[in-house]
Amino acid sequence: MAWMLCKCGETLSTVQVPNEIELYVYTDFEMDEINAMEINDPLDIPDPERDVWRCPHCERIHVFDGDKVIKTYVLEEDEEEENGEK
Ligand SMILES: [Zn+2]
Repeated sequence: MAWMLCKCGETLSTVQVPNEIELYVYTDFEMDEINAMEINDPLDIPDPERDVWRCPHCERIHVFDGDKVIKTYVLEEDEEEENGEK
């Protein structure tokens, strides 16, 4: 997966390295396992189970299973603003 079109219309690409798109997301358990490994080269750190991309425009979070987006999280609107309450 090198690029995708976000629902907001933004083209997300991880062709450029480094980039602001791809997030490396580990659980606390996974971090423990990684910390227990004897890693000398940062490149030896195992990849996260899922690729996670964040759109810099709308801040949607896209979660991949392989090359397929399986989940998209949208930034929640501020309810107070939405209802006009203060
Ligand atoms: Zn977007």
